[in-house]
Amino acid sequence: MDGKNGYNKREGIPKEASTIRTNFHSHTTRCQHATGRDEQYVTAAIAAGYAQLGMSDHGPWPYGDGYVSGIRMRLDEFPGYLASARALKEKYREQIAIYVGLESEYYPAYSGWLAEQAEAERLDFLILGSHFDRPDEDIYFGGITQPHQLYRYARHTILGLRSGLYCCLAHPDLFMLNYPAFDEDCAVISRDIAQAARDLGIPLEYNLSGLYPQSWRRGPGYPAAGFWQIAAQEGASAIIGLDAHDPGRYADTHLYDQAVRDLAQLGINRVDSLVPCRMGKRLAV
Ligand SMILES: [Zn+2]
Ligand SMILES: [Zn+2]
Repeated sequence: MDGKNGYNKREGIPKEASTIRTNFHSHTTRCQHATGRDEQYVTAAIAAGYAQLGMSDHGPWPYGDGYVSGIRMRLDEFPGYLASARALKEKYREQIAIYVGLESEYYPAYSGWLAEQAEAERLDFLILGSHFDRPDEDIYFGGITQPHQLYRYARHTILGLRSGLYCCLAHPDLFMLNYPAFDEDCAVISRDIAQAARDLGIPLEYNLSGLYPQSWRRGPGYPAAGFWQIAAQEGASAIIGLDAHDPGRYADTHLYDQAVRDLAQLGINRVDSLVPCRMGKRLAV
């Protein structure tokens, strides 16, 4: 693929900088906006040379008011998700290390419940997907366009990082999906988020899903160069995530390998794995 698609054009950077591929951001159809069978994600990852796969579908919530989310697994699907993940972990144990987790919001009202689930089900990891700050999904942080909404995102997300529940912050630069341009307010919140992540030892996810067309995107999208320059300056660490809602994403290894080079060029420390997670070693707020 070298030279055909515009990648690997920079000089002085090794073409095979990636020695190990891992992904801890992988969905299933239970979230209602993914495609493919659970097993297809695993076989696609193996075929693409991934050494570790963390399953992290959008986690359920025990909504007390009958609310039904259209973008997460239902609570009654959670046991089946876990059973499927564990069966695949066993079936493919010789070929890939599978870890079982969830991508979850930070919803303080349900944090105790989430912590109990993580412990009772011995989840390997949780990633913070900070899309909303309220269970009624009032404001989508990928749709924000105003500075005051940026600060709302940052405040909420940093509290989530401090909760002690999560091993990683998914797409920290989600706010650039529809925000018109990376401005001074974006820089301020990027610095705040990067400093919080650094101080807590939580990697920021360099999310590759933004490299594909997104019909709802009106802004620059992510990965956002301005965010990652600040993250590098602040000494935060990064982990590459596919955010795969389609098993086919695993085959696009040129994007993964390019991300390895991009992060190396930024001088940011890259981590390969969220396991063991430091979850539980911090006090929850
Ligand atoms: Zn999703
Ligand atoms: Zn995701």
